[in-house]
Amino acid sequence: MPTIVKYEKGVKLVKKPENLSFIADPTTNAASQGSHATFITHAHTDHSVAFPDVATKVYSTKVASELYEKLTTKKPKNTHYVNFGKTQKIEDIDVKFIPAGHLLGAAQILFYFPDMTVCYTGDISTEEMITVPKATIPDDDIDILITEATYGTKDLYFDTRERTKISLLKWIAESLQEKRTPVINLGHLGPAQETIAFLNSMLSVDILCDTRTSRINQTYKNNNISLNWENFEETDVSIFEPENTIVLLPRACNNLPSFLDGYKVSRGMVTGQAARFAYRKFDHTFPFSMHANSQELVNHAEKIQPKKVYTLYGFDSELAALIRHQLKIPSRPLKFAEKKPTLDEYLNENK
Ligand SMILES: [Zn+2]
Ligand SMILES: [Zn+2]
Repeated sequence: MPTIVKYEKGVKLVKKPENLSFIADPTTNAASQGSHATFITHAHTDHSVAFPDVATKVYSTKVASELYEKLTTKKPKNTHYVNFGKTQKIEDIDVKFIPAGHLLGAAQILFYFPDMTVCYTGDISTEEMITVPKATIPDDDIDILITEATYGTKDLYFDTRERTKISLLKWIAESLQEKRTPVINLGHLGPAQETIAFLNSMLSVDILCDTRTSRINQTYKNNNISLNWENFEETDVSIFEPENTIVLLPRACNNLPSFLDGYKVSRGMVTGQAARFAYRKFDHTFPFSMHANSQELVNHAEKIQPKKVYTLYGFDSELAALIRHQLKIPSRPLKFAEKKPTLDEYLNENK
């Protein structure tokens, strides 16, 4: 009986006939009940709810668990650290974590079941960034690739990251010239650190962040990513020079910190979601993402050359169609993994 791969509020892998069950990135605590091991690819909260769950044995990178704690102030429990690139036996199955890009400590996970090798990407970025390497291509033959599909549609247009960064820089320079303090909303785990590293390399201006972002920055710094910023909730803001300062705020933060009262500001938003939504409250949006776009996801699958691809999150149907058409590899959303094969799939599999 082959190993079963399916979506059950998380990526579920069940080895038959002994019913050994693994779950990766469960989205509820109930989802990991009954699993012999729970895997977390990275610290973003839509992937990491299992960290504080005492009832489950969690495997993750050490950095992912540290970032989770900084992000949520909840303590990870019952967590076992896994190093990148080292094969480890977990419940008698070889498992390996390899870098996913995306954010510090983010992993793709390889499961070597006796009858099939499965690669689950978690969230990935396939381009080299300042704060993270690009997603590694596994050197093994992969039978099943489970890939994220957050931006997995051709309908979303992303300019190159280089050009998006340059337009951000230009907007900042113009705002400062007009004596407006640029205030940028962005994801405080991942995009914030990449943006700070970029601005540090290009400009000698002060970057101010809130306490939570500062804690995350500090974890990056402890892991040898050089970042320079100040915490506006802790430093003396009376020395704040509006013409020489950029303020970063968490993505959903609407209100400006009070030290900006009476100053002119320009509001910017940095997020991949700006390719989908208008964000009208902002003067300027920058669709910069730490997720691979649709073509990058297809290219990643092409390099891996799996026998079958399941897609997950976001535009899963659209990405599965792109992979079928461009790569001629059977592909469907993971949520339909257990559905009966289509006629095409049936004929292909029984050739
Ligand atoms: Zn993520
Ligand atoms: Zn995600």
